[in-house]
Amino acid sequence: MRRLRSFTIVAPGIAFAEGPAANWVVFTGRDAVELVDAGYPADRALVEASIRWAGGDVSQLRRILLTHGHSDHLGASRELAARTGATVETMPEELGNVRRDITEQVTVADLLPSIAKRGTVRWAVSAIRAGGLGEVGVPDAAALTGDDVELSTGHRLRVIATPGHTSGHTAFFEPEAGALISGDALVTGHPLLRDSGRPQPLPAFFHHDREEAARSAAALDLTGVRLLLPGHGPLLRL
Ligand SMILES: [Zn+2]
Repeated sequence: MRRLRSFTIVAPGIAFAEGPAANWVVFTGRDAVELVDAGYPADRALVEASIRWAGGDVSQLRRILLTHGHSDHLGASRELAARTGATVETMPEELGNVRRDITEQVTVADLLPSIAKRGTVRWAVSAIRAGGLGEVGVPDAAALTGDDVELSTGHRLRVIATPGHTSGHTAFFEPEAGALISGDALVTGHPLLRDSGRPQPLPAFFHHDREEAARSAAALDLTGVRLLLPGHGPLLRL
């Protein structure tokens, strides 16, 4: 059975769910729910449970914002959107990945050089079991434009383009809680990283463009950030 690693209400109307393999954030307020990312396809029941624990109801889901279109982040969004009528939005440069017109995601060929490394095989098997190779594309995903996005819950997010992991990867910053939702631009843990609990980049082979990913990670300003809510690994209070 899949379980959350942790679930934390980090600020009024903001809950961080550390999923079995990837994380998501639940916003609640004004009888509405919005998500940033949605785990693996196999995490749908956990996403729904996390919405209830955050004090919301799945029927209130208005929108799912995606940091990027990898299967461990957009996983449950296709089904959740179909069931609730919620829209799925991402950066214009990321629409190809989310709609699955293209796939900028690590392949077995990318993994071959590191396949002997401890943990890689186990990680790949668990990713496949979680639905990582399934149909996850959201054909009618919409483009997120502007520097700020106002959520129907009353929260406001700054959109921070962080390309490299994928072409349209984005991070989100919620200024009132000082919460940075960093997606895969900066993580605090991953089965293929040696240690967890500190901000660090994912192994380079996960990135579509390694140099651009390194530039984006370096440019992510952590001053003013009190909470780091990463795409993988535990939340970090700074
Ligand atoms: Zn990713």
